[in-house]
Order: sequence, then C-alpha cells, then structure tokens
Amino acid sequence: MKSAEIQALVASVVERLRGRGLRRTKALDLLITEMAEHGRPMTIADLTATESLSGQCDPATVYRLLMKLEEHGVVRRLGLHDRSTYFILVQHGLHHDYLVCTGCGQIAEIDIECPVRTLERKLEKQSGYHHVYHELEFFGVCPACHDGKEHEGKAHCC
Ligand SMILES: [Zn+2]
Ligand SMILES: [Zn+2]
Repeated sequence: MKSAEIQALVASVVERLRGRGLRRTKALDLLITEMAEHGRPMTIADLTATESLSGQCDPATVYRLLMKLEEHGVVRRLGLHDRSTYFILVQHGLHHDYLVCTGCGQIAEIDIECPVRTLERKLEKQSGYHHVYHELEFFGVCPACHDGKEHEGKAHCC
C-alpha cells in the first residue's frame, strides 16, 4: 500500500472508533498504524516486535487492544484460534480470503479471484440487504508440513 492509502485507512479506522465512543490513545494509534502499514495478517508476537510498539506495549497490552478493536468490528481474527491467531484490519470494500495450515498454523492469502462476489450481489438483490460481505477461511496442510510428514514418517509441524 502507498503511504497515502495507509493514512486514509488509519484515518477511517480512527473515525469508526470515534463514532463508537472509543477513547483514542497513543498505543491504539501505533497499533492501528502498524497494522495498516503491514497490510497482512499479524500475530500478537509480530505486532509486539514492530519498531513502534516494541518498548511501548507488552503482548498483554497488544492483546487487550486487539480484543477491543475486534469487539468494535475494525479488526478481524484469523487462523487457528487456540494456537496461532492472526489479526488484520477490516477494510470496507476490500477483503481477502485465507488458507490456514492446520499443521503449523501459518496462513496464506488466497490469490485467486473470489467467486463469492457474484453470490453477494445475488443475495443483495434477493434479500434487500445492503453492504453484504463475507469472510472465508479455508483449512488444509501446507506443503512444508505435508513434506515433513512424508519424509520423516511422523506428524510434524514446521
Ligand atoms: Zn504447515
Ligand atoms: Zn472472498
């Protein structure tokens, strides 16, 4: 993303939060900015290690902020919730679907055109709903986990 787009995304998230009465703090601003700049799903460890947040926030604080953002619908939670959870900012009119490895928990963005868009339009027409959207996660075993299994003959996680 270009820096103008990042700024616009941060501004829109901050605006949505303000509309919901959430108090703006420096830590919250830094977190939203890091997520917008990276533009990909990140774990709590990834976020805590970023330049602006390391030394500012511990993982517990980052977790607490993310829960608040998720509650307000500006952050989406992805991946294996018990082991390997990723977070990404929700962008209106733009979404990605993901592939999650059940072995190691890593996630990959799906790089094929989303077939559900057509269905969304049909749903809007049929139901009278506006702004219909979806979020998809596919689960499977990544090549590294699959190969590890075959070569070593045991369940193995990368
Ligand atoms: Zn894997
Ligand atoms: Zn999709």
